[in-house]
Amino acid sequence: MTTNILFAAGAARWDDWAPPLRAALDRAGLAYELAQEMPSEKVDYIVYAPDSPLRDFTPYGRCKAVLNIWAGVEAIVGNKTLTQPLARMVGGGLTEGMVEWVLGHALRHHLGMDAHIANPEHRWHPVAPPLASERRVTVLGLGALGSAVAEKLAGLGFDVTGWSRRPKKITGLRTQHGVEGLTKALKGAEILVLLLPDTPATENILNAETLALPAPGAFVINPGRGALIDDSALLAALDSGQVAHATLDVFRVEPLPTDHPFWTHPGVTVTPHVASETRAPQGAEVIAENILRGEAGQPFLHLVDRQAGY
Ligand code: NDP
Repeated sequence: MTTNILFAAGAARWDDWAPPLRAALDRAGLAYELAQEMPSEKVDYIVYAPDSPLRDFTPYGRCKAVLNIWAGVEAIVGNKTLTQPLARMVGGGLTEGMVEWVLGHALRHHLGMDAHIANPEHRWHPVAPPLASERRVTVLGLGALGSAVAEKLAGLGFDVTGWSRRPKKITGLRTQHGVEGLTKALKGAEILVLLLPDTPATENILNAETLALPAPGAFVINPGRGALIDDSALLAALDSGQVAHATLDVFRVEPLPTDHPFWTHPGVTVTPHVASETRAPQGAEVIAENILRGEAGQPFLHLVDRQAGY
């Protein structure tokens, strides 16, 4: 029997993804058809990205799973026509990329690099930065990405606290969880990293009230999602000095509108949603593994909890 796989993750990604997907499926010896178009009633799996034009899953009655090539699912998780299991991307190069991006931006602020990179007045200010062990870092979100980031930061010696929805133990860091743990996690943080998904429960998690909890002059690094932050509250915290600098990779509207105050605020670094992305060669392995699991009657990996929204 042939397994029919519809690639609906965007025509622009086909050339990158088709060869490694075929290679991974060939290695497994699966008889399959992989195409960008096929009759809906034939489709067994849909390889998907939330920016795909495919929004109505009703005709795909035989489809066993929708396999998302992104980690974030907020744009698809609420789709009422999607009754098939939905898996998201874990691995696929995403974790390594995110660890590198966050570590780079955290070290920039920790070491005070900006003062030396741009020093037009040639100020000689010989103050050594603190050690990582003297810097309190809080990571909100301890999933695939947040836990990897928190562990690497702790490995460099940072004093790391992590926060998640459910209790979690990770060697080398303090952990807090749930609504009641948020205040403890934020209190006194000097660098705050946001790696939460965008759900109704996480929207505006950084607001006027919670932004008052970190240490004065804290640094905010957000590669999670734009909706995690109340933009006006962050701008006010930057203006008051409560937040010294915000490095933002994700925004409520992307591309960030040219007239958004983040572009011109001296305390904000804007990066254009580049913190990490799924790399086709590694991502194809993850997708192929899930298809093989489905065909072998094993449970899918990385299934989205539709109730929780991530
Ligand atoms: P996961 O689903 O693996 O982890 C999510 C984490 O957030 C979990 O620890 C979860 O807690 C926690 N969480 C969720 N809801 C709450 C809540 N209400 N209160 C407290 N904690 C909560 O996601 P990933 O680590 O794979 O990805 C995180 C996000 O990163 C993605 O959703 C996406 O938005 C973003 N991303 C951004 C990229 C970029 O380039 N900028 C690239 C890839 C991803 P628990 O452990 O208890 O479930």
